[in-house]
Amino acid sequence: MRGIVFDIDDTLYCRQDMLVKAAETVLGVKVPDWREFIRIFYEKSEINMAALESGEVSTHDINGWRYNETFRLLGLPYKQDDGGKAADTYLELQSHMVISDGLAGVLDKIAKDPDIRLGILTAGESRHQWNKVGMLGLNRWFSNDYIIVTGDTPYTKPDKELYKMMEERLDLSPSDLWMIGDNYDKDIKGAIENNWHTLWLNRRGLPDPEHLPDISVLTDEEFIAALAKEFT
Ligand SMILES: [Mg+2]
Repeated sequence: MRGIVFDIDDTLYCRQDMLVKAAETVLGVKVPDWREFIRIFYEKSEINMAALESGEVSTHDINGWRYNETFRLLGLPYKQDDGGKAADTYLELQSHMVISDGLAGVLDKIAKDPDIRLGILTAGESRHQWNKVGMLGLNRWFSNDYIIVTGDTPYTKPDKELYKMMEERLDLSPSDLWMIGDNYDKDIKGAIENNWHTLWLNRRGLPDPEHLPDISVLTDEEFIAALAKEFT
């Protein structure tokens, strides 16, 4: 028996495309360097993750602030209320998000294997992340019992306790478990330290880290191919 645990954002769907598209829609300009935009936006996201997970601030308000900070640091032309507008546009885009056909196809095959248990470990505000589970139709492959949202726990990624919690939920030991995610520090590093196997979807093409994952891929196409090769 093996367990495969997925992150949601930028793993099961491409969040960064939507974040940039929302900014471009509101500002009416093309973001010159999307990698730099995402790097700054995600750096700002680290700052108040704990307040977000505890429900002290809403995802919408915090995204508005992250947008304005990113606009400011990149020298993009913006007005004070553009951050909030971009956050609205992003939420609107999110409400139409879907799992790609290629990924759905490989998840269908993996989910049929009786020797595989599928889990999700996702960071964020409880209601917001559970909404994504619904919008993306993730219950087609994942049972709610095997989904952990950090906002429902006292911990945040990459706390060791979250991996232990998942080992108990899936009733599997570290050597039988795989963590699959896009964020090296949040998803992959902690899993390696807990002796899990890892697959890193390195969407932003970051350099190799000190402790290498079992598998690294750069694009959605490579990601789907790697899942098919390893798990079907
Ligand atoms: Mg992610």
